[in-house]
Parts: sequence; structure tokens; C-alpha cells
Amino acid sequence: MGQIIAIANQKGGVGKTTTSINLSASLAVAEKRTLLVDLDPQSNASSGIGIVSDNIELTTYQALLGQVETHRIITDTGIDFLKVLPSTTDLIGAEIELINEDGREKRLKKALNQIRDDFDYILIDCPPSLGLLTINALTAADSVLVPLQCEYYAMEGLSQLTRTIDLIQRQLNPTLFLHGILLTMFDGRNNLSHQVGEEIRRHFAQRVFKTVIPRNVRLSEAPSHGLPVLQYDISSRGAEAYLALAREIIDTGK
Ligand code: ATP
Ligand code: MG
Repeated sequence: MGQIIAIANQKGGVGKTTTSINLSASLAVAEKRTLLVDLDPQSNASSGIGIVSDNIELTTYQALLGQVETHRIITDTGIDFLKVLPSTTDLIGAEIELINEDGREKRLKKALNQIRDDFDYILIDCPPSLGLLTINALTAADSVLVPLQCEYYAMEGLSQLTRTIDLIQRQLNPTLFLHGILLTMFDGRNNLSHQVGEEIRRHFAQRVFKTVIPRNVRLSEAPSHGLPVLQYDISSRGAEAYLALAREIIDTGK
């Protein structure tokens, strides 16, 4: 049964989508059957993996509304073991349409249960909010991976996120756990990056991934080519880092 990991942080621009795309691709090249779920109306994960929005008919939106069976929405990518549940801006409407529905927090869980056995890993790229979409992701997931940019206010939003995780554990998903905090956009020449990294490790100890994602221009260029960094520039430090993260996740077997 596939392990479901929500990639979440309500703070914008911290590397959620970059991590979703590149960790998915790295798990897939390790021959793990992987599904990338785009749960963000910005649909950056879909475009970043090479899905052209004009060609998408069925999306995560229909899965959440229970209109279409999930396996019909699953789309191939340029990588053998990697599939995607794409999204478009339609997804903005889902939060409002679901607001008065019964079991609105469990829609994604229900949709993913239909296909869970077909995958080893299911990664969910969350939007930068703690609204109903992210709540659906945290309810469906086994664990949460939190990308954290190594900058001054990095810790601030973290307490709100851990409170939300506690709340979901109490009310909707008792076995949800914090898979780990991932330090992203780490700049080794910048003292602040080191200071923030050390502070986070002091607070969260072994819940911080050993792998650190460096700031790397190849990671920011790759999505405009619709490619994960592995296919864009395999020799880049960004590609190496996400391959190491996949290895760390596979090896810890959580
Ligand atoms: P949002 O909250 O809007 O969904 P996000 O958390 O998904 O944002 P990304 O889109 O992954 O964040 O990253 C924000 C920007 O930073 C993007 O332009 C991305 O290309 C760039 N970026 C992410 N990680 C790195 C990195 N390690 N090195 C260089 N650029 C990066
Ligand atoms: Mg994003």
C-alpha cells in the first residue's frame, strides 16, 4: 500500500513544489511507483512536470468532488515510474463548493484510497495556506514533509503548522506524523543559512532531514522546461540533493 506524504507549509515560496516534483522524480528513477498529486490551484507541479494545461480534461478537482474515478485522472509523465494527478485553476472553486458538504475533509483520502495499492509513494503538493485543500492533504496523508527556507523568519510559521498538524491528529487522522523538516535553498556562503539551520536542528533534532537542499539555479530553471532537474541537468547539485533525499526516505522506510 502506497505511502502518502503531504508536502506542506502555509508559507509561500519555500520550495514545496520544487520538492514535490524533484523528490517524486527521484523516487521514480529508483523504480518506486510514484504518484505526484497537484493540490494547488496554481498548478505549478503539473506544469513543472511537463503537463500542458490546455491538454488536461480531468483533474484533482473532479477527484475531490467525487465526479470521476481517480484512475481515469492519472496521467503519464516523461518518467516511467512517475504519474501525476494534475490540477488547473479550477481547483480554486473546490474549497468553496465543498464547504457545506459532508465529509469535506476526507474527499482526497477517499479518492486516493481507490488507487493507493498501485503506488509505492504518493506525494501531495499543497497550496500555501491551511485551508480545506491542505486539510484534505493532511487527512489523507501518513506523514507531512515540511520544506523550510533557511531565512530569518523561517521558524515563525512553523508553530501554526505544528498546531494544525496536532488538530488534524486529534480530529481527523490520529496516525499522521511529521516525516521531517527539509531545509531548502540553503546557501553555504551565507551565515544566516547556517544559523537558521542550526536553530532548527536544535529545536527539531532528528526530525530534520540529514539531506539539505542547496540554492541551485538549475532547480529554478528546470520547471520552465517542464522537466524535473534530473532530466534537465543530472550533474547539478540540485539533482544530487533530491536523489539523496529520496535515498534517505527509502532507507528510513518510514
Ligand atoms: P508556493 O507557496 O507559491 O506554492 P512553493 O513553496 O511551492 O511556492 P517553489 O515554487 O518550489 O515554492 O519555489 C519558489 C521559487 O524558488 C521558485 O521560483 C523556485 O524555482 C525557486 N526555488 C525553489 N527551491 C530552490 C532552490 N533549492 N534553489 C534555487 N531556487 C529554488
Ligand atoms: Mg507551490
